Amino acid sequence: MTDALRTAALDVERLRDDFPVLRRELRPGVPLVYLDSAATSQKPRPVLEAMQRFYELHNANIHRGVHRLAEEATAAFEDARRTVAGFIGAGDARQIIFTRNTTESINLVARTWARANLAAGDVVLLSEMEHHSNLVPWQMLAAERGLRLEFIAVTDDGELDIDSFHRLLDLRPKAISISHMSNVLGTINPVGEIVRHGHAAGARVVVDGAQAVPHLAVDVGELGADFYAFSAHKMCGPTGIGALYGRYELLDAMPPFLGGGDMIKRVELRSFEANDVPHKFEAGTPAIAEAIGFAAAADYLDGVGREAIHAHEQAIAGYAIERLEEVPGVQVFGPPAERRGGVVSFTLDGIHPHDIAQVLDGEGIAIRAGHHCAMPLHAHLGLPASARASFYLYNTPAEVDRLIDGVYKVKRTFA
Ligand code: PMP
Repeated sequence: MTDALRTAALDVERLRDDFPVLRRELRPGVPLVYLDSAATSQKPRPVLEAMQRFYELHNANIHRGVHRLAEEATAAFEDARRTVAGFIGAGDARQIIFTRNTTESINLVARTWARANLAAGDVVLLSEMEHHSNLVPWQMLAAERGLRLEFIAVTDDGELDIDSFHRLLDLRPKAISISHMSNVLGTINPVGEIVRHGHAAGARVVVDGAQAVPHLAVDVGELGADFYAFSAHKMCGPTGIGALYGRYELLDAMPPFLGGGDMIKRVELRSFEANDVPHKFEAGTPAIAEAIGFAAAADYLDGVGREAIHAHEQAIAGYAIERLEEVPGVQVFGPPAERRGGVVSFTLDGIHPHDIAQVLDGEGIAIRAGHHCAMPLHAHLGLPASARASFYLYNTPAEVDRLIDGVYKVKRTFA
Protein backbone atom coordinates (compact mmCIF):
# COMPACT_ATOMS: atom_id res chain seq x y z
CA MET A 1 0.00 0.00 0.00
CA THR A 2 1.30 3.48 -0.84
CA ASP A 3 2.32 5.93 1.89
CA ALA A 4 -0.19 8.41 0.53
CA LEU A 5 -2.92 5.87 1.10
CA ARG A 6 -1.92 5.25 4.69
CA THR A 7 -2.09 8.94 5.46
CA ALA A 8 -5.25 9.68 3.47
CA ALA A 9 -7.59 12.09 5.18
CA LEU A 10 -10.85 10.16 4.92
CA ASP A 11 -12.39 7.92 7.53
CA VAL A 12 -13.64 5.59 4.83
CA GLU A 13 -15.04 2.93 7.15
CA ARG A 14 -17.26 5.51 8.82
CA LEU A 15 -18.33 6.98 5.46
CA ARG A 16 -19.26 3.53 4.18
CA ASP A 17 -21.92 3.29 6.89
CA ASP A 18 -23.73 6.16 5.16
CA PHE A 19 -24.25 4.07 2.00
CA PRO A 20 -26.81 1.30 2.62
CA VAL A 21 -26.04 -0.57 -0.62
CA LEU A 22 -22.41 -1.09 0.40
CA ARG A 23 -23.62 -3.49 3.08
CA ARG A 24 -25.06 -5.80 0.41
CA GLU A 25 -23.71 -9.29 0.00
CA LEU A 26 -24.23 -10.51 -3.54
CA ARG A 27 -23.97 -14.08 -2.32
CA PRO A 28 -23.56 -15.23 1.28
CA GLY A 29 -20.06 -14.17 2.29
CA VAL A 30 -19.43 -12.20 -0.94
CA PRO A 31 -19.84 -8.48 -0.23
CA LEU A 32 -20.36 -6.06 -3.10
CA VAL A 33 -17.24 -4.28 -4.33
CA TYR A 34 -18.58 -1.32 -6.26
CA LEU A 35 -15.99 0.02 -8.70
CA ASP A 36 -18.32 1.69 -11.20
CA SER A 37 -18.80 5.16 -9.72
CA ALA A 38 -17.75 6.87 -12.95
CA ALA A 39 -20.96 5.44 -14.45
CA THR A 40 -23.02 6.40 -11.42
CA SER A 41 -22.19 6.82 -7.76
CA GLN A 42 -23.95 5.22 -4.82
CA LYS A 43 -26.25 7.37 -2.65
CA PRO A 44 -25.73 8.14 1.04
CA ARG A 45 -28.53 8.16 3.57
CA PRO A 46 -28.77 11.99 3.92
CA VAL A 47 -29.65 12.20 0.20
CA LEU A 48 -32.22 9.41 0.39
CA GLU A 49 -33.73 10.94 3.53
CA ALA A 50 -33.95 14.46 2.09
CA MET A 51 -35.91 13.16 -0.89
CA GLN A 52 -38.16 10.98 1.24
CA ARG A 53 -38.83 13.89 3.63
CA PHE A 54 -39.87 16.07 0.70
CA TYR A 55 -42.36 13.49 -0.56
CA GLU A 56 -43.70 12.75 2.91
CA LEU A 57 -44.15 16.35 4.09
CA HIS A 58 -43.88 18.97 1.36
CA ASN A 59 -44.77 17.46 -2.02
CA ALA A 60 -46.42 19.95 -4.38
CA ASN A 61 -45.71 21.50 -7.76
CA ILE A 62 -43.56 24.63 -7.74
CA HIS A 63 -43.84 28.25 -8.93
CA ARG A 64 -47.61 28.01 -9.35
CA GLY A 65 -49.67 27.31 -6.27
CA VAL A 66 -50.32 29.83 -3.53
CA HIS A 67 -51.00 27.12 -0.97
CA ARG A 68 -48.59 26.28 1.84
CA LEU A 69 -47.14 23.10 0.36
CA ALA A 70 -46.53 24.77 -3.02
CA GLU A 71 -44.70 27.59 -1.27
CA GLU A 72 -42.58 25.14 0.73
CA ALA A 73 -41.78 23.09 -2.37
CA THR A 74 -40.83 26.24 -4.31
CA ALA A 75 -38.63 27.47 -1.48
CA ALA A 76 -36.91 24.08 -1.21
CA PHE A 77 -36.32 23.95 -4.98
CA GLU A 78 -34.86 27.46 -5.11
CA ASP A 79 -32.78 26.76 -1.96
CA ALA A 80 -31.41 23.72 -3.78
CA ARG A 81 -30.40 25.96 -6.68
CA ARG A 82 -28.49 28.21 -4.25
CA THR A 83 -26.76 25.22 -2.67
CA VAL A 84 -25.71 23.79 -6.03
CA ALA A 85 -24.48 27.25 -7.11
CA GLY A 86 -22.42 27.54 -3.93
CA PHE A 87 -21.02 24.04 -4.44
CA ILE A 88 -19.27 25.04 -7.68
CA GLY A 89 -18.56 28.67 -6.82
CA ALA A 90 -21.18 29.98 -9.25
CA GLY A 91 -22.08 33.04 -7.17
CA ASP A 92 -25.46 34.28 -8.44
CA ALA A 93 -27.78 31.24 -8.28
CA ARG A 94 -29.56 32.42 -11.44
CA GLN A 95 -26.50 31.13 -13.26
CA ILE A 96 -27.56 27.55 -12.44
CA ILE A 97 -30.06 25.93 -14.82
CA PHE A 98 -31.48 22.60 -13.70
CA THR A 99 -31.40 20.05 -16.53
CA ARG A 100 -31.75 16.27 -16.63
CA ASN A 101 -28.02 15.57 -16.77
CA THR A 102 -24.69 16.61 -18.29
CA THR A 103 -25.87 15.43 -21.69
CA GLU A 104 -28.89 17.71 -21.64
CA SER A 105 -26.78 20.61 -20.35
CA ILE A 106 -24.40 20.34 -23.32
CA ASN A 107 -27.28 19.94 -25.75
CA LEU A 108 -28.82 23.08 -24.24
CA VAL A 109 -25.66 25.07 -25.00
CA ALA A 110 -25.39 23.66 -28.52
CA ARG A 111 -29.08 24.16 -29.32
CA THR A 112 -29.43 27.66 -27.90
CA TRP A 113 -26.21 29.63 -27.50
CA ALA A 114 -24.29 27.95 -30.33
CA ARG A 115 -27.23 27.80 -32.71
CA ALA A 116 -27.82 31.52 -32.22
CA ASN A 117 -24.18 32.57 -32.40
CA LEU A 118 -22.31 30.24 -34.77
CA ALA A 119 -22.50 30.29 -38.56
CA ALA A 120 -21.25 28.21 -41.49
CA GLY A 121 -17.49 27.77 -41.45
CA ASP A 122 -17.10 28.65 -37.76
CA VAL A 123 -14.71 26.36 -35.89
CA VAL A 124 -15.68 24.43 -32.77
CA LEU A 125 -12.76 22.89 -30.92
CA LEU A 126 -13.27 19.58 -29.12
CA SER A 127 -10.77 16.86 -28.20
CA GLU A 128 -10.16 13.23 -29.07
CA MET A 129 -10.93 12.16 -25.50
CA GLU A 130 -14.51 13.45 -25.34
CA HIS A 131 -17.51 11.48 -24.14
CA HIS A 132 -20.20 11.06 -26.81
CA SER A 133 -22.23 13.66 -24.87
CA ASN A 134 -19.67 16.26 -25.84
CA LEU A 135 -19.33 15.10 -29.44
CA VAL A 136 -22.74 14.23 -30.83
CA PRO A 137 -24.55 17.51 -29.93
CA TRP A 138 -21.80 19.40 -31.78
CA GLN A 139 -21.87 16.98 -34.72
CA MET A 140 -25.64 17.48 -34.98
CA LEU A 141 -25.27 21.26 -34.98
CA ALA A 142 -22.31 21.11 -37.37
CA ALA A 143 -24.42 19.13 -39.85
CA GLU A 144 -27.25 21.66 -39.57
CA ARG A 145 -25.12 24.81 -39.69
CA GLY A 146 -22.01 23.82 -41.64
CA LEU A 147 -19.69 24.26 -38.66
CA ARG A 148 -16.14 22.93 -38.77
CA LEU A 149 -15.20 20.60 -35.90
CA GLU A 150 -11.54 20.29 -34.96
CA PHE A 151 -10.00 18.06 -32.29
CA ILE A 152 -7.20 18.59 -29.80
CA ALA A 153 -4.93 15.54 -30.01
CA VAL A 154 -4.32 13.16 -27.11
CA THR A 155 -0.73 12.14 -26.25
CA ASP A 156 0.46 8.56 -25.75
CA ASP A 157 0.24 9.25 -22.01
CA GLY A 158 -3.45 9.99 -22.35
CA GLU A 159 -3.20 13.74 -21.84
CA LEU A 160 -4.29 16.63 -24.03
CA ASP A 161 -1.55 17.63 -26.45
CA ILE A 162 -1.22 21.28 -25.47
CA ASP A 163 0.91 22.08 -28.53
CA SER A 164 -1.90 20.80 -30.73
CA PHE A 165 -4.32 23.00 -28.73
CA HIS A 166 -2.20 26.10 -29.34
CA ARG A 167 -1.89 25.31 -33.06
CA LEU A 168 -5.66 24.90 -33.35
CA LEU A 169 -6.21 28.27 -31.67
CA ASP A 170 -4.76 29.80 -34.84
CA LEU A 171 -8.04 28.76 -36.50
CA ARG A 172 -9.78 31.29 -34.17
CA PRO A 173 -12.43 28.84 -32.89
CA LYS A 174 -15.72 30.41 -31.82
CA ALA A 175 -16.30 27.69 -29.22
CA ILE A 176 -14.18 25.21 -27.30
CA SER A 177 -15.95 22.37 -25.52
CA ILE A 178 -13.75 20.15 -23.41
CA SER A 179 -14.04 17.63 -20.60
CA HIS A 180 -12.56 18.57 -17.24
CA MET A 181 -11.74 14.95 -16.47
CA SER A 182 -11.75 11.98 -18.84
CA ASN A 183 -14.13 9.15 -17.95
CA VAL A 184 -11.78 6.63 -19.58
CA LEU A 185 -8.24 7.80 -18.85
CA GLY A 186 -8.93 9.67 -15.62
CA THR A 187 -6.88 12.56 -17.00
CA ILE A 188 -7.53 15.90 -15.32
CA ASN A 189 -7.33 18.49 -18.06
CA PRO A 190 -5.84 21.98 -17.53
CA VAL A 191 -9.19 23.68 -17.96
CA GLY A 192 -8.11 27.01 -16.43
CA GLU A 193 -5.31 27.30 -18.99
CA ILE A 194 -7.64 26.29 -21.84
CA VAL A 195 -10.17 28.93 -20.77
CA ARG A 196 -7.49 31.63 -20.55
CA HIS A 197 -5.99 30.94 -23.95
CA GLY A 198 -9.41 30.19 -25.49
CA HIS A 199 -10.77 33.54 -24.35
CA ALA A 200 -7.68 35.34 -25.60
CA ALA A 201 -8.33 33.75 -29.02
CA GLY A 202 -11.95 34.94 -28.95
CA ALA A 203 -13.67 31.62 -28.12
CA ARG A 204 -16.39 30.80 -25.61
CA VAL A 205 -15.45 27.82 -23.46
CA VAL A 206 -17.84 25.04 -22.46
CA VAL A 207 -16.68 22.48 -19.90
CA ASP A 208 -18.03 18.95 -19.47
CA GLY A 209 -17.60 18.57 -15.73
CA ALA A 210 -19.44 15.25 -15.33
CA GLN A 211 -16.36 13.50 -13.92
CA ALA A 212 -14.80 16.51 -12.21
CA VAL A 213 -17.47 18.06 -9.97
CA PRO A 214 -17.99 14.87 -7.92
CA HIS A 215 -14.28 14.61 -7.12
CA LEU A 216 -12.52 17.98 -7.33
CA ALA A 217 -13.13 21.30 -5.63
CA VAL A 218 -14.39 22.94 -8.82
CA ASP A 219 -14.81 26.72 -8.72
CA VAL A 220 -16.33 27.94 -11.97
CA GLY A 221 -15.64 31.57 -11.08
CA GLU A 222 -11.94 30.80 -10.72
CA LEU A 223 -11.86 28.67 -13.90
CA GLY A 224 -13.59 31.44 -15.84
CA ALA A 225 -15.53 29.00 -18.03
CA ASP A 226 -18.54 30.38 -19.91
CA PHE A 227 -20.59 27.20 -19.45
CA TYR A 228 -20.03 24.23 -17.15
CA ALA A 229 -22.12 21.03 -17.26
CA PHE A 230 -22.51 18.28 -14.65
CA SER A 231 -24.85 15.57 -13.30
CA ALA A 232 -26.10 14.89 -9.76
CA HIS A 233 -26.02 11.12 -10.06
CA LYS A 234 -22.24 10.93 -10.28
CA MET A 235 -21.83 13.00 -7.10
CA CYS A 236 -23.90 10.91 -4.66
CA GLY A 237 -27.15 12.53 -5.81
CA PRO A 238 -30.16 11.13 -7.64
CA THR A 239 -30.53 10.34 -11.33
CA GLY A 240 -32.77 12.57 -13.45
CA ILE A 241 -31.17 15.90 -12.58
CA GLY A 242 -28.08 17.81 -13.59
CA ALA A 243 -27.05 21.40 -13.99
CA LEU A 244 -25.71 23.86 -16.47
CA TYR A 245 -23.78 26.81 -15.12
CA GLY A 246 -23.70 29.71 -17.56
CA ARG A 247 -22.51 33.28 -17.23
CA TYR A 248 -25.55 35.47 -16.64
CA GLU A 249 -25.00 37.83 -19.60
CA LEU A 250 -24.77 34.86 -21.96
CA LEU A 251 -27.83 33.11 -20.51
CA ASP A 252 -29.82 36.33 -20.61
CA ALA A 253 -29.07 36.84 -24.30
CA MET A 254 -29.75 33.24 -25.32
CA PRO A 255 -33.02 32.01 -26.80
CA PRO A 256 -34.96 29.48 -24.71
CA PHE A 257 -34.41 25.72 -25.08
CA LEU A 258 -37.66 23.75 -24.70
CA GLY A 259 -41.04 25.47 -24.84
CA GLY A 260 -43.92 25.00 -22.41
CA GLY A 261 -45.08 25.90 -18.93
CA ASP A 262 -42.85 27.80 -16.50
CA MET A 263 -40.44 29.10 -19.15
CA ILE A 264 -42.83 31.91 -20.13
CA LYS A 265 -44.00 35.21 -18.71
CA ARG A 266 -46.97 35.58 -21.04
CA VAL A 267 -48.49 33.51 -23.84
CA GLU A 268 -50.84 34.51 -26.62
CA LEU A 269 -52.21 32.24 -29.29
CA ARG A 270 -49.42 33.01 -31.73
CA SER A 271 -46.59 34.23 -29.54
CA PHE A 272 -45.00 34.12 -26.12
CA GLU A 273 -42.67 36.16 -23.97
CA ALA A 274 -39.88 34.13 -22.41
CA ASN A 275 -39.36 34.09 -18.65
CA ASP A 276 -36.26 35.45 -16.95
CA VAL A 277 -33.08 33.41 -16.38
CA PRO A 278 -32.96 30.68 -15.10
CA HIS A 279 -36.65 29.79 -15.55
CA LYS A 280 -36.47 30.57 -19.26
CA PHE A 281 -34.56 27.28 -19.66
CA GLU A 282 -36.68 25.11 -17.36
CA ALA A 283 -39.86 24.19 -19.23
CA GLY A 284 -42.47 22.03 -17.52
CA THR A 285 -42.49 20.50 -14.06
CA PRO A 286 -38.88 19.94 -13.07
CA ALA A 287 -37.35 17.13 -11.03
CA ILE A 288 -38.25 18.71 -7.68
CA ALA A 289 -37.39 15.96 -5.21
CA GLU A 290 -34.27 15.29 -7.25
CA ALA A 291 -33.17 18.93 -6.95
CA ILE A 292 -33.51 18.57 -3.19
CA GLY A 293 -31.49 15.34 -3.32
CA PHE A 294 -28.90 17.10 -5.52
CA ALA A 295 -28.45 19.81 -2.87
CA ALA A 296 -28.26 17.20 -0.10
CA ALA A 297 -25.49 15.47 -2.07
CA ALA A 298 -23.61 18.75 -2.45
CA ASP A 299 -23.89 19.35 1.29
CA TYR A 300 -22.76 15.80 1.98
CA LEU A 301 -19.66 16.13 -0.21
CA ASP A 302 -18.90 19.56 1.26
CA GLY A 303 -19.09 17.98 4.72
CA VAL A 304 -16.54 15.35 3.71
CA GLY A 305 -14.38 17.82 1.75
CA ARG A 306 -13.50 17.42 -1.91
CA GLU A 307 -9.78 17.95 -1.37
CA ALA A 308 -9.79 14.95 0.94
CA ILE A 309 -11.93 12.96 -1.50
CA HIS A 310 -9.56 13.71 -4.37
CA ALA A 311 -6.48 12.84 -2.28
CA HIS A 312 -8.12 9.55 -1.28
CA GLU A 313 -9.06 8.69 -4.86
CA GLN A 314 -5.60 9.49 -6.20
CA ALA A 315 -4.08 7.26 -3.57
CA ILE A 316 -6.51 4.41 -4.30
CA ALA A 317 -6.03 4.81 -8.07
CA GLY A 318 -2.25 4.86 -7.58
CA TYR A 319 -2.44 1.69 -5.55
CA ALA A 320 -4.72 0.03 -8.13
CA ILE A 321 -2.37 1.00 -11.00
CA GLU A 322 0.63 -0.32 -9.08
CA ARG A 323 -1.08 -3.64 -8.34
CA LEU A 324 -2.60 -4.03 -11.83
CA GLU A 325 0.76 -3.42 -13.47
CA GLU A 326 2.20 -6.33 -11.48
CA VAL A 327 -0.22 -8.70 -13.24
CA PRO A 328 1.37 -10.17 -16.38
CA GLY A 329 -0.57 -9.19 -19.50
CA VAL A 330 -2.30 -6.15 -17.98
CA GLN A 331 -1.99 -2.81 -19.72
CA VAL A 332 -3.18 0.32 -17.89
CA PHE A 333 -4.11 3.44 -19.88
CA GLY A 334 -3.78 7.08 -18.95
CA PRO A 335 -1.37 9.32 -17.06
CA PRO A 336 0.36 8.64 -13.72
CA ALA A 337 -1.88 8.68 -10.64
CA GLU A 338 -0.79 12.17 -9.57
CA ARG A 339 -2.24 13.63 -12.76
CA ARG A 340 -5.56 11.80 -12.73
CA GLY A 341 -8.69 11.12 -10.73
CA GLY A 342 -10.02 7.78 -9.55
CA VAL A 343 -10.57 6.15 -12.94
CA VAL A 344 -8.37 3.27 -14.12
CA SER A 345 -8.98 1.63 -17.49
CA PHE A 346 -7.05 -1.47 -18.46
CA THR A 347 -6.92 -4.45 -20.78
CA LEU A 348 -5.71 -8.00 -20.27
CA ASP A 349 -3.87 -9.65 -23.18
CA GLY A 350 -6.09 -11.94 -25.22
CA ILE A 351 -9.16 -11.55 -22.99
CA HIS A 352 -12.15 -9.43 -23.98
CA PRO A 353 -13.06 -6.74 -21.42
CA HIS A 354 -16.62 -8.10 -21.28
CA ASP A 355 -15.22 -11.45 -20.14
CA ILE A 356 -13.14 -9.67 -17.47
CA ALA A 357 -16.24 -7.84 -16.20
CA GLN A 358 -18.31 -11.03 -16.21
CA VAL A 359 -15.84 -13.08 -14.19
CA LEU A 360 -15.38 -10.18 -11.75
CA ASP A 361 -19.14 -9.91 -11.39
CA GLY A 362 -19.16 -13.54 -10.26
CA GLU A 363 -16.76 -12.42 -7.50
CA GLY A 364 -19.09 -9.60 -6.42
CA ILE A 365 -16.99 -6.93 -8.14
CA ALA A 366 -18.75 -4.34 -10.30
CA ILE A 367 -16.59 -2.77 -13.00
CA ARG A 368 -17.51 -1.52 -16.46
CA ALA A 369 -16.43 -2.96 -19.81
CA GLY A 370 -16.92 -1.46 -23.24
CA HIS A 371 -16.19 1.82 -24.95
CA HIS A 372 -17.53 3.92 -22.04
CA CYS A 373 -19.29 6.26 -24.50
CA ALA A 374 -15.91 7.27 -25.92
CA MET A 375 -15.64 5.29 -29.16
CA PRO A 376 -13.30 7.78 -30.90
CA LEU A 377 -10.90 7.67 -27.93
CA HIS A 378 -10.88 3.86 -28.05
CA ALA A 379 -10.22 4.03 -31.80
CA HIS A 380 -7.29 6.35 -31.02
CA LEU A 381 -5.97 3.84 -28.46
CA GLY A 382 -6.43 1.06 -31.03
CA LEU A 383 -8.90 -0.78 -28.81
CA PRO A 384 -12.46 -1.96 -29.40
CA ALA A 385 -13.10 -1.77 -25.64
CA SER A 386 -11.49 -1.59 -22.24
CA ALA A 387 -12.24 -2.61 -18.65
CA ARG A 388 -12.68 0.28 -16.24
CA ALA A 389 -12.48 0.35 -12.45
CA SER A 390 -13.57 3.68 -10.99
CA PHE A 391 -13.17 4.69 -7.37
CA TYR A 392 -14.94 7.09 -5.06
CA LEU A 393 -14.81 8.22 -1.45
CA TYR A 394 -16.20 4.92 -0.18
CA ASN A 395 -13.65 2.56 -1.79
CA THR A 396 -10.90 0.90 0.21
CA PRO A 397 -7.49 -0.62 -0.52
CA ALA A 398 -8.96 -3.98 0.51
CA GLU A 399 -11.37 -3.63 -2.42
CA VAL A 400 -8.43 -3.04 -4.76
CA ASP A 401 -6.95 -6.28 -3.40
CA ARG A 402 -10.22 -8.06 -4.21
CA LEU A 403 -10.08 -6.59 -7.73
CA ILE A 404 -6.55 -7.94 -8.20
CA ASP A 405 -7.54 -11.40 -6.89
CA GLY A 406 -10.44 -11.24 -9.35
CA VAL A 407 -8.15 -10.34 -12.24
CA TYR A 408 -5.99 -13.39 -11.44
CA LYS A 409 -9.15 -15.49 -11.45
CA VAL A 410 -9.99 -14.07 -14.90
CA LYS A 411 -6.56 -15.16 -16.11
CA ARG A 412 -7.02 -18.66 -14.68
CA THR A 413 -10.50 -18.91 -16.23
CA PHE A 414 -9.25 -18.05 -19.70
CA ALA A 415 -5.78 -19.63 -19.49
N1 PMP B 1 -19.27 13.43 -19.89
C1 PMP B 1 -18.51 12.57 -19.22
C2 PMP B 1 -17.03 12.82 -19.16
C3 PMP B 1 -19.08 11.48 -18.59
O1 PMP B 1 -18.32 10.61 -17.93
C4 PMP B 1 -20.49 11.29 -18.67
C5 PMP B 1 -21.16 10.10 -18.01
N2 PMP B 1 -20.57 8.87 -18.29
C6 PMP B 1 -21.23 12.23 -19.37
C7 PMP B 1 -20.61 13.28 -19.96
C8 PMP B 1 -22.71 12.10 -19.50
O2 PMP B 1 -23.33 12.20 -18.27
P1 PMP B 1 -24.88 11.91 -18.14
O3 PMP B 1 -25.07 10.51 -18.65
O4 PMP B 1 -25.17 12.06 -16.71
O5 PMP B 1 -25.56 12.90 -19.00
